[in-house]
Amino acid sequence: METDQAKSFAYGELLARLRRIHVLGSVAGLLGWDEQVNLPQGAAARRGEQMALLAELAHAEGTAAGLGAVLAACEAGGAELDAEARLVVAGARRDYERATRLPTELVAEKARLSSEAYHAWAAARAARDFGAFAPFLEKHLALARREAELLGYGERPYDLAIDRHDPGLTAAQVDALFTRLRAGLVPLARRIDAAASEALARGEGPVALRGFDVEAQRRLVRAVTARLGFDYERGRLDVSLHPFCEGSGDDVRLTTRFDADQPLDALYSSIHEAGHGLYEQGLPAAYAGTVLGVAAGMAVHESQSRLWENQVARSRAFWRGLEPEFRAAFPGPLAGISGDALHAAANAVEPGGLIRVDADEVHYNLHILLRFELEKRLFAGELAVADLPAAWDDLSEELLGRRPEHAGEGVLQDVHWSGGAFGYFPSYTLGNMIAAQLWTAAQARLPGLEEDFSRGEFGRLLGWLRREVHAHGRREDAFALTRRVTGAELGPEALLAYLEQRYGG
Ligand code: ZN
Repeated sequence: METDQAKSFAYGELLARLRRIHVLGSVAGLLGWDEQVNLPQGAAARRGEQMALLAELAHAEGTAAGLGAVLAACEAGGAELDAEARLVVAGARRDYERATRLPTELVAEKARLSSEAYHAWAAARAARDFGAFAPFLEKHLALARREAELLGYGERPYDLAIDRHDPGLTAAQVDALFTRLRAGLVPLARRIDAAASEALARGEGPVALRGFDVEAQRRLVRAVTARLGFDYERGRLDVSLHPFCEGSGDDVRLTTRFDADQPLDALYSSIHEAGHGLYEQGLPAAYAGTVLGVAAGMAVHESQSRLWENQVARSRAFWRGLEPEFRAAFPGPLAGISGDALHAAANAVEPGGLIRVDADEVHYNLHILLRFELEKRLFAGELAVADLPAAWDDLSEELLGRRPEHAGEGVLQDVHWSGGAFGYFPSYTLGNMIAAQLWTAAQARLPGLEEDFSRGEFGRLLGWLRREVHAHGRREDAFALTRRVTGAELGPEALLAYLEQRYGG
């Protein structure tokens, strides 16, 4: 009896310690949100100091000997713990090992390098000069390799980079999925490109949308995201240069951006971030800070944002529901623009677009295949940093059908590598695959779903996602989650079929 009490005491202590780490992380997240939304220019140095102190405190909590002792006590009494508690302990052990095996000096070096590399990247991109950024990328790669040696990895160092964003996934698994995707997607994209180019030549390009009052846009995107189910009692929508979602549980912050001549950009980036936010609001609050209370990984996270943004909000049914409200909000700029033209504008494809963040649904995944291939070669030592721009341009021609004219629209376009965030890109396309599979499953399980959308109702879909995805936290990796929810293995077929259906005609 006494021993049982000691064991449950150890588990209670573990939860309390995880909670403190989680709270520290949430404070850092909030400061990061504030930095991008509200920060006066002159306060950057102070904010850097605040963030560094919080990171130090969180690292101290996450590597404390006391945490190690509590974990060991929980593991010694493992048989007495229920299945959920054992998952919590295993997840905490994994994080503890990762945190303690990295020397503080390396963590600090990475933070310092990321800050320097970010500024070097921004300047290099503006000057279209890869050589100015290359030394920083070299250093980041060297650090990533050292990290992999210290923490261990599966078959190759790149596995650790992938696992950091999508626990349980390996480069070989991603490679196999992307090879199958590429085989179907390249010919499909070429066919869609040809049709889009012909339409443009006939003067049938997407309609220009200009002069949309920004205040009216703000009211509209708030109303739309609230209707999707985003809870504004437990969240906010603000403005930042690059849209993002921060926070979880009862405090989820979305950001978007407004441009009078880009009303669909605000609408779709808001819906995208709201998809992330719905996931964060739907995670089980009782387990906050444990593996049962966090997202399954970046791929599943991205599946939630993409499902709402693309499968739901670019559908004809969604636009049937939205159109009267959209017209009422912007009567002037929409005069003379038909419902069909609006829906077409929401589904426009741009052949030969070189910029990932501006890419449509069809081409987006080609941008990701390119980045994955290059990261894989860099980590394997098959590609030198100095040869990266040429390799980028060659792959761009192969996949997108066009070579960049300078590094700014090629190898220097993304911020990720300046922060050493290797292995992040694949989660976008894995998320698109999972979204397409969830969509197929949702339509089969919830008949009449599209009629719901045309009435502005989304509760059945959200309820299903809450039960099947959100409530499960990180109990499973992306493969197991997809298998359980959809009954099919994670693969590119549903995405290819969806793209064919929506864009192939
Ligand atoms: Zn996203």
